[in-house]
Amino acid sequence: MFLESTREVRLASRPTGMPSAANFEIAATPVPPLKAGEVLVKNLWMSVDPYMRGRMVDRESYVPPFQVGKALEGGAVGEVVESSSSKFKVGDIVLSSFGWREHFVAAETQVHRVDTRLAPPQAWLGVIGMTGMTAWTGLTRIARIQPGETVFVSAASGAVGAIAVQIAKLQGCRVVASVGSEEKAAWLRELGADAVINYRTAGDLTAALKAAAPEGIDVYFENVGGAHLEAALNLLKPNGRVAVCGMIEQYNATEAPKGPSNLAQVIMKRLRLEGFIVSDHWDHYPQFVGEMAAWLAAGKIQTRETVREGLEAAPEAFIGLFRGENTGKMLVKLA
Ligand code: NDP
Repeated sequence: MFLESTREVRLASRPTGMPSAANFEIAATPVPPLKAGEVLVKNLWMSVDPYMRGRMVDRESYVPPFQVGKALEGGAVGEVVESSSSKFKVGDIVLSSFGWREHFVAAETQVHRVDTRLAPPQAWLGVIGMTGMTAWTGLTRIARIQPGETVFVSAASGAVGAIAVQIAKLQGCRVVASVGSEEKAAWLRELGADAVINYRTAGDLTAALKAAAPEGIDVYFENVGGAHLEAALNLLKPNGRVAVCGMIEQYNATEAPKGPSNLAQVIMKRLRLEGFIVSDHWDHYPQFVGEMAAWLAAGKIQTRETVREGLEAAPEAFIGLFRGENTGKMLVKLA
């Protein structure tokens, strides 16, 4: 297949506060001819994720920052359309970190074949991919949930949260979920959440969490930060655990965020707060895939996707994460 050029989304400028369309630009870029051991991939789906906001800031972190004028990166699933690798053939469906573009050429070591008999291509960006793995890692490896425990999950209707709620239910836990709309709350009840808080209408989150979990909580799966963390610290039982996964409330902050005023609860209640980055746990990915594939095959895990169409829609899809526009995984369908 001969392809002269393709399109990619570049970082036009670094956002201050909430990103806007002006921070992104779509540009044409040449497609180089294949060298030995390379593949040409047509992306079918790309992921937008809250962590990408952190990469738009010029600072050192666990992943290097995006560069102004250069293509963004992120999870993508695509189809091999030309191959000079003995490991991949035309038609293979592969996962890569070359999102935010329609086609790309990469070395065979930079793409990973996915098994579409276990789950459809886009699920490898969500429930059986990075976000599902994040939910599983936070609950089983960081918080180490036990049957009968009460688990509180924030951003519970999102990609990570909705899977965390269901894994906790499958492990025999009682689950309290926090979401930002009544529609999302109804879906969380369908997924088995025992109590749901709409944080936009609940008022005092500590009072709402106390009403939802009068005996307190054993585990908090932290996705949001701020008032959610403060409420969780107030309701955690002695020796409770917090899997600190994300703090989306802060990602667009232009001022230093307010800290929880009750951090001393950590001492009094002998709490354990542990942050984690899913990529540090990748050696457990095969175990996760085995468990998740079995749950999916048995119909024990439900998913929803919010899909935007075409490369032009990618910036707005990303920005929509911070406005709660997604239920389940936010995805961009590219082909
Ligand atoms: P989501 O699919 O959950 O999308 C973001 C959701 O967060 C929105 O739908 C919205 O839902 C909620 N939200 C946005 N802004 C706020 C706010 N100010 N206050 C409260 N809720 C808000 O994204 P992911 O599932 O991909 O990610 C969830 C969290 O997990 C993020 O914090 C992310 O950074 C983190 N993460 C961490 C990883 C790690 O390795 N540590 C890996 C992957 C994700 P609503 O309508 O309910 O407000």
